[in-house]
Amino acid sequence: MIVVMQAGAPEQQVKDVLERIEALGFEAHPIYGAFKTVIGITGDTARVDIGMLETLPGVAECIRVGRPYKLVSREFKNENTVVRIPIPSGEVTIGGEAIAMIAGPCAIETREQAFAIAEPLAKAGAHLFRAGAYKPRTSPYSFQGLAVPGLEIMTELREKFGMGIVTEAVDHETLDQVERYADVIQIGARNMQNYSLLKRAGRAHKPVLLKRGLSATLDELLMAAEYVASEGNLQIILCERGVRTFSDHSRNTLDLAVVPAVKSRSHLPIIVDPSHGTGQRNKVLPLSRAAVAVGADGLMIEVHHEPDHAWSDGAQCILPSEFVMLREEVAQIARVLHRSIN
Ligand code: PEP
Ligand code: MN
Repeated sequence: MIVVMQAGAPEQQVKDVLERIEALGFEAHPIYGAFKTVIGITGDTARVDIGMLETLPGVAECIRVGRPYKLVSREFKNENTVVRIPIPSGEVTIGGEAIAMIAGPCAIETREQAFAIAEPLAKAGAHLFRAGAYKPRTSPYSFQGLAVPGLEIMTELREKFGMGIVTEAVDHETLDQVERYADVIQIGARNMQNYSLLKRAGRAHKPVLLKRGLSATLDELLMAAEYVASEGNLQIILCERGVRTFSDHSRNTLDLAVVPAVKSRSHLPIIVDPSHGTGQRNKVLPLSRAAVAVGADGLMIEVHHEPDHAWSDGAQCILPSEFVMLREEVAQIARVLHRSIN
């Protein structure tokens, strides 16, 4: 349920409404807009007496939200959420006019490998470097990531090239580490329904990049985001990374139709990962073009200086020089949509 306050309602009235909601045993989530404050109410709101709330001074109206998710819904917040990521060289925004480019290898393998990839990416204007230090692999015998030494290498890159770091946490302990080192905490597809991890991410003081589960519906993805939001963190970036279908010509089926669907149901930004979405490097450029054309707020691309020798996901990695070309192409598409690339 959402309580919409009257435009210009004084702070004391907002406070009184928040207190009343909490006294009834519900959680109140205020969003202070430039003109109006809206308050989300979570809990079993079926027993809330709308009439009573509407009589409180300063309340304009109360709306029952039909969808199971509240805080991430468009009904709760009409304006797009712009996630702001402070990085050493300034700030990156995701969800505004500029389309964010996130790039890097699947995993940090060695310090040399990381630098060989980060340097040309920084030169190409990528502001967010993404690589795994903790890898959720299908086989326990596959490379699992360098763990803390991998995070330390990314800290070096961050300082040297001024890029923000995006990296995945796979459980509570690794989330503690990732929160310390990274600028954005990634929750991977396999953990999209790990509700205790989502709640922990919701208590983190960093933006969360939430990937869609391998067979998750849009509502399930938004409910996962709701878990993060319900703990107080609304700095959430959704990510389409392909889903499992009967199609056998690519690793996954990149569901680009989900981008406008997210835009109509939620205020959160959504980016597209065509690397895991296709699993094949020759499909990354065409699907990146399509993702930008369909309205994605960013792209996340796997890049490796020696894809054929990558320790994981080499088949879907493109070269740094190919990333430069991709960025130039999608910038032209972005222009048609009155957007830019950052
Ligand atoms: C990744 O981003 O490297 C990754 C493991 O992706 P996903 O969680 O989408 O499989
Ligand atoms: Mn990968």
